[in-house]
Amino acid sequence: MMYEYVDAHIHLHGFEEKEREILLKNREFIFLAVANDVSSSFFNMKLSLLYENVIPAVGIHPWNIEKTKNEDMAKIENIIKRTNIKVLGEIGIDKKFVPGTINKQREFFERFLKLAKEYDLSVNLHTPDAWEEVFDILIKYDIKKAYFHWYTGPVSMLEEIQSNQYFVGINPAIFLQKKHQEVLRYADLDNIITESDAPYKYKGIYLHPEKIEEVINYIAERKKVDSKYLKIRLKENLSRFLS
Ligand SMILES: [Zn+2]
Repeated sequence: MMYEYVDAHIHLHGFEEKEREILLKNREFIFLAVANDVSSSFFNMKLSLLYENVIPAVGIHPWNIEKTKNEDMAKIENIIKRTNIKVLGEIGIDKKFVPGTINKQREFFERFLKLAKEYDLSVNLHTPDAWEEVFDILIKYDIKKAYFHWYTGPVSMLEEIQSNQYFVGINPAIFLQKKHQEVLRYADLDNIITESDAPYKYKGIYLHPEKIEEVINYIAERKKVDSKYLKIRLKENLSRFLS
């Protein structure tokens, strides 16, 4: 399949139907569709049958863990067993926005990683203020393919992230967010992938896949590489994440 741009973290379930259709008909993009809960997990599976530029992920967002029941987990496990799904996400631990549910978040995150290990799945991670803990749990479960979505953690952790061949997501927030700019400065080209996190908004910017071209130009300029060459590298990185 020919495509130009990688969006490795998008909530397609969060769009109005019309806008989503326009987006999905744009074959210049490959979309890794993350889920927030059971229904968006099923939704992503369905979309991936209709559109070949959608790579589906299933999972439960850390913000939704509070209301998650064992039967929800069983439904997701069922999808994993019965399909050839390759990615779990958006999963993780969030100590910044939902610290009150930390114990339940840890419990479910470990359950997801057990599944990732058992079924050889890649993991698309949400990790605000929990970067180190998440990293340690990935190592504990011997996870090989991990992606820290919109990474804004310490740059000092990049070395261990990269030495494990994990990836960090670079998001349109980079135009405003100093921490994210620092991450790009120290990250290797081999370990970054572009994403939108659409339709989320950050400080008034609508994070949208159509900003990814601008993100690529920004990265190319900072890393002093040609943007055409960078696009090829980003596609290769996505393939390694999914391999
Ligand atoms: Zn997200």
